[in-house]
Amino acid sequence: MKKTAALLIFLLMSTMLVAQDKQVNKHSNSSWMNTIPENELIEWRRHIHENPELSFKEFNTSNYVADLLKSFGNIEVIRPTKTSIIGILKGATPGKIVAFRADMDALPVQEETGLSFSSKNDNVSHACGHDAHTAMLLGTAKILSKMKDQIKGTVYFLFQHAEEQAPGGALEIIESGALKDVQAFFGMHVIPNYPVGYIGILPNGAASTTSDGFFLTINGKGSHGSMPQLGIDPIVVGAEIVNALQTVVSRSITPGEMAVVTIGKFQSGDAPNVIPDKAELAASIRTISDPTRQLVEDRIRAIIENVTKAHGATYELEYIRSYPAIQNDAKLNAKANTSAIKALGKDNVFDALRMTASEDFSYYNKEAPTCFMILGVGEGVANHNPKFNLDEKALSNGVKAEVQIILDYLNN
Ligand SMILES: [Zn+2]
Ligand SMILES: [Zn+2]
Repeated sequence: MKKTAALLIFLLMSTMLVAQDKQVNKHSNSSWMNTIPENELIEWRRHIHENPELSFKEFNTSNYVADLLKSFGNIEVIRPTKTSIIGILKGATPGKIVAFRADMDALPVQEETGLSFSSKNDNVSHACGHDAHTAMLLGTAKILSKMKDQIKGTVYFLFQHAEEQAPGGALEIIESGALKDVQAFFGMHVIPNYPVGYIGILPNGAASTTSDGFFLTINGKGSHGSMPQLGIDPIVVGAEIVNALQTVVSRSITPGEMAVVTIGKFQSGDAPNVIPDKAELAASIRTISDPTRQLVEDRIRAIIENVTKAHGATYELEYIRSYPAIQNDAKLNAKANTSAIKALGKDNVFDALRMTASEDFSYYNKEAPTCFMILGVGEGVANHNPKFNLDEKALSNGVKAEVQIILDYLNN
């Protein structure tokens, strides 16, 4: 998230916040709006916050979620993988199938918030806010479980494991086949420095970026600094590669299409009169579409192979593909926007900028159209910071938007 843009929006919107806060309930024309389990949302969030678990190890968290879902009634609970849960709520009449996703995993970060309900586990904490995602989707499930008669179709409450660790939990759940009938996926992420309880609809098309990269070792041949003809200088080879890589974005990518190639590491040598054996480079690469992503990778591989070959050097390349970009479906975006406004009022919903973080929610697009949103949780440090915290007042707005989006998608 670009900090200056985020701050500007925050400043603009926070002036309206107090006034709008009181208007939220004016838009609540449905009786379910009065059943938001506000105290439980906080209780669930704090329990999960205090007992965080790392990716692929969400055993207690998933049990906690499963037990609560069962206690609500009308929800069938399945486990597509060891630590993920899907709660399935069938409405009174058949219809479409929609999934709302919350991720449940924590990060290998030592919490420094000083909260009374801080993590009990050393070097593990909910610094990305997935505790809030889980609590909100539980709240949504609780409300909808009492509305079976008013639902046409089926809701999947998708509690996903392992968002934070590639290859990610989303792929595993997809591969289990449990989501093959889903016709639309929605998801929401808490983001600081947006006003509390405001819903941001991310752009149509690419709603986040990929986060790929590479680690490269160039193997040259060491020599005396005064006898370069007897060696192969990996610094010169590396420098040529760095220069050539500058043409990937500037000469190969369609103007207007977004791509970034950054060499963040170039290490080689220790002394002025020694040509070293090798050089090590590392890069971070951002793109927003599959064709551009492939083109960037192909050009980078070709440059590295051919420049090293021209100099008689060899190389080892580890090219890392992280999550693809989330693709927000224009129709789902429009529906989510309408529903969020219906639930929260026009002034609590805004058009958000593309997220610069990557998310494995993007994989659900393999199955069906997707829509990802953000929820403002007030002023604070970025997600993943040891001091990350959120304003719990945002949670009930998140639930209202989730319930309304699900109801409108199925019933309209
Ligand atoms: Zn995260
Ligand atoms: Zn996250």
